[in-house]
Amino acid sequence: MVKRNGAQAELRHRNLALVLRALAAGENLTRATIAAEVGLTRATVSTLVDELLAAGLLEERGAQRPGTVGRPGTALALAAAGPAGIGAEVGVDHLAVCVVDLRGDLRCRSECPADNRGRPAAAVLAELAELIGRVAKEAAGMDLRPVGTTVAVPGLVGQDRGTVLRAPNLGWEDVDVATALGPGTTVVENEANLGALAELWLGGHDRLADFVHVSAEIGIGAALIVEGRLFRGARGFAGELGHVPVRPDGPLCSCGAHGCLETFAGEEALLRAAGAGTPRALRTAAAGGDPAAIAALAGAGQALGVALSGAVNLLDPQAVVVGGPLADLAPWLLPGVRAELAARVTDRRWRPQDVVTSRLGRDGVLRGAAYSSVRAVLDDPAAWIHTPER
Ligand SMILES: [Zn+2]
Repeated sequence: MVKRNGAQAELRHRNLALVLRALAAGENLTRATIAAEVGLTRATVSTLVDELLAAGLLEERGAQRPGTVGRPGTALALAAAGPAGIGAEVGVDHLAVCVVDLRGDLRCRSECPADNRGRPAAAVLAELAELIGRVAKEAAGMDLRPVGTTVAVPGLVGQDRGTVLRAPNLGWEDVDVATALGPGTTVVENEANLGALAELWLGGHDRLADFVHVSAEIGIGAALIVEGRLFRGARGFAGELGHVPVRPDGPLCSCGAHGCLETFAGEEALLRAAGAGTPRALRTAAAGGDPAAIAALAGAGQALGVALSGAVNLLDPQAVVVGGPLADLAPWLLPGVRAELAARVTDRRWRPQDVVTSRLGRDGVLRGAAYSSVRAVLDDPAAWIHTPER
């Protein structure tokens, strides 16, 4: 009997998540349309919806759906108040924090310039904690209650998801971020992984579940989404596209090998080739028709295309998504990327338009971080409903 009740409770928990996720994916759903979509009876869905309403995870919109046969349904939506997620970003030259609600909408955001390269990690984290505190206070004023914080870092994160094992651009090694910021509620994640997850969850793509996401800050970051999940690899460092060889006899890379993608398309190589001081200056020069900037970007796009053709032939993804700061340079990078892919991908069904630019802009990683905290509630609402301190 106990066993049966356990199984029933588990089923109910799963169904609560099913209903909540249907609402996260669709708009203007009613109890009836949810029932049709998730394959449960209307009565079951009504009970589940009532429980989610009582917990404050949903709200009724009141709007009726015209033309519905029988009793008109009330449109339901994820709650705009209540559980929320905090995202934090440690960049080499800035700190940023934001809060998103259950719907993934950005509710508050704060950023400050900071020279984090080589600064003691404790000092960086103390400043970040202060920024998080300020933004959390602002969120509380909007009736939002953060359930957790996800910190995006440009480095390799330990299996415990709390420690940064190595972040060369910050000069960090074995930094316990979770303990410094709030153990139990803080998770650390690689920024490239969060950029890809943001694209999966918030990118506005229709049924995109298998893709390679490429972004760049100082190095080249990439991450793989396979069957709707982040593919981390056996040791957690999948996605190191920047160190895929493009020309084995090419220039020496920071990793010790020769001719990696990063030596052709990394920020440093790109700026040197273009004779530009900053990425912003590079973009301005390219937009103004500067031949050196345009040639440098074309070369980087070609190198990127060569490296990506290996990934595409190996993995057969639906798409390659170019995001982060690289998205700003897409008009000059993409022709080279597409030409190389067209020449090298063996499946003739691959099309140039399968390389797409992210619409999330520079906040993709930060929003992805905040939303990954919220996902914990969407994936297991029962656990959140039964949290004693809620
Ligand atoms: Zn390398």
